[in-house]
Amino acid sequence: MALLAVENVYKSFQGFLALAGVSLEVAEGSFHALVGPNGAGKTTLFNVITGRFPPDRGSVIFQGKPITGWPTHRVARLGLAISFQRAQPFASMKVREAVTLARLGYAGATFHLLRPLGAFTEALDAAREALAKVGLEDQADRRVSELPLGDLKRLDVAMALVAKPKLLLLDEPLAGLSRAERRRMVGFIRELLRREGVTLLFTEHDTEAVLELADRITVLHQGRVLVEGNPEEIRHDVQVRAAFLGG
Ligand code: ADP
Repeated sequence: MALLAVENVYKSFQGFLALAGVSLEVAEGSFHALVGPNGAGKTTLFNVITGRFPPDRGSVIFQGKPITGWPTHRVARLGLAISFQRAQPFASMKVREAVTLARLGYAGATFHLLRPLGAFTEALDAAREALAKVGLEDQADRRVSELPLGDLKRLDVAMALVAKPKLLLLDEPLAGLSRAERRRMVGFIRELLRREGVTLLFTEHDTEAVLELADRITVLHQGRVLVEGNPEEIRHDVQVRAAFLGG
């Protein structure tokens, strides 16, 4: 059984069909890439999966459970986390505080002063552990706004991992990074998620990184799945090469 299944999903915006019958299965333990040109529908599909907006038709099934149209916080509690610019709203906070808040939010805390001390202690411990996992333990007392982009992306991942997700969605994890940083980030993502046993669904424009990191690739084009395969199959697909991989 797939960890995540998207079945025949349609989504339109003011008559424009952004997703036109997309189906996708993410196998447990896999690193699955979603690629395609700008406007292909990748972000829209992420938003449908995480419940940011419901599809017009079709369904989303997570661990065999239909979650179509569920609100994001409910989807998150089932073990589906998105790590996209999570830290941004917490720019003035310290790194440790941002991750602690992410844990408290996940655990259902509403207003922290009303929570028992135990919830705090647990969240602080979880935050320390998550920061250690992404190698940011020595940055815990810095302000989020002071972090260089590479560290900020690690912090985004820590804020997602602190909820102990089964499936992590990463939206362009390498965007804005230098070539050297991209290489480091690919190694970091692979080692960390394999060690944690987290399944990954990600979008990315850096095709070399996609071919290196993914074990399954779905190519979206104009709201439809153009082709799906393993990196070898995708690399040798003439149509895909011409359109997206260059040459
Ligand atoms: P990608 O992430 O692959 O670049 P998107 O999912 O962002 O593609 O966009 C797919 C299409 O849907 C685009 O043509 C975009 O303009 C349109 N679209 C996405 N979100 C909205 C929205 N909230 N309102 C109107 N149009 C949207």
